[in-house]
Amino acid sequence: MDGAIDAPVAAGARRATEDRARAYVGLGANVGDARGTMRAGVHSLAALPGVVLAGVSRLYLTRPVGVTDQPDFHNAAVALDVPARPDPSTAALALLLALKGIEKAFGRQRRERWGPRELDLDLLLFGSHRIHVERPAQARGGDPEKNDHRWLDVPHPSARERLFVLAPLADLAPALEPPGWGESVESARRRRVSEEGADAVCVVAEWDDRADEWAVDRP
Ligand code: ATP
Ligand code: CA
Ligand code: CA
Repeated sequence: MDGAIDAPVAAGARRATEDRARAYVGLGANVGDARGTMRAGVHSLAALPGVVLAGVSRLYLTRPVGVTDQPDFHNAAVALDVPARPDPSTAALALLLALKGIEKAFGRQRRERWGPRELDLDLLLFGSHRIHVERPAQARGGDPEKNDHRWLDVPHPSARERLFVLAPLADLAPALEPPGWGESVESARRRRVSEEGADAVCVVAEWDDRADEWAVDRP
């Protein structure tokens, strides 16, 4: 049943769940040493138990829209091979928890040592699964009363309308058709370029596997 939302229990029973899934995570930072935070964020993701880093996008600088007297945003995406057991919804929730843990660790470090910084990690895609599950209380962030904190939604509901997400995602998987989109990542990216303008996002560096960082700067 392509495009159907996975029910947490039924999914495991319905399909012979794969052991592993390809997940895509979007990273964003715009305060302090954003590039350093992003690099350390990639390293933290790669160090998660059972996770294998499968690709890192180019690093983008995103012009702030609206409030212009704030630092530019840095954005990127990573491909991760992650455990998919016992079922995709449970495994995706576990990954979201891990993302929140990394965000929190950076937040704690930031507050104590170098002042405010920000690292946002969004679960963009989890294999070909559509997931809408309620998060257990301990997996919720921010205000527990806020409804949008109660759920995990994959694909990330806003990914398709954000060039700063689509551009790095297209570096990794241009031909991929996320469930429910009816178009490829590259086609969505082009659509957003025509709406936001090509200069809304700007490539600043390429990932260097040997250096383990965005080491090749673009002029
Ligand atoms: P946006 O989600 O629009 O990018 P944000 O990243 O600034 O906004 P957060 O405060 O980081 O928002 O996240 C709000 C909540 O969104 C999270 O606590 C989480 O429960 C929920 N959420 C739902 N789906 C996802 C997802 N695919 N990835 C990350 N968070 C998600
Ligand atoms: Ca976000
Ligand atoms: Ca987020």
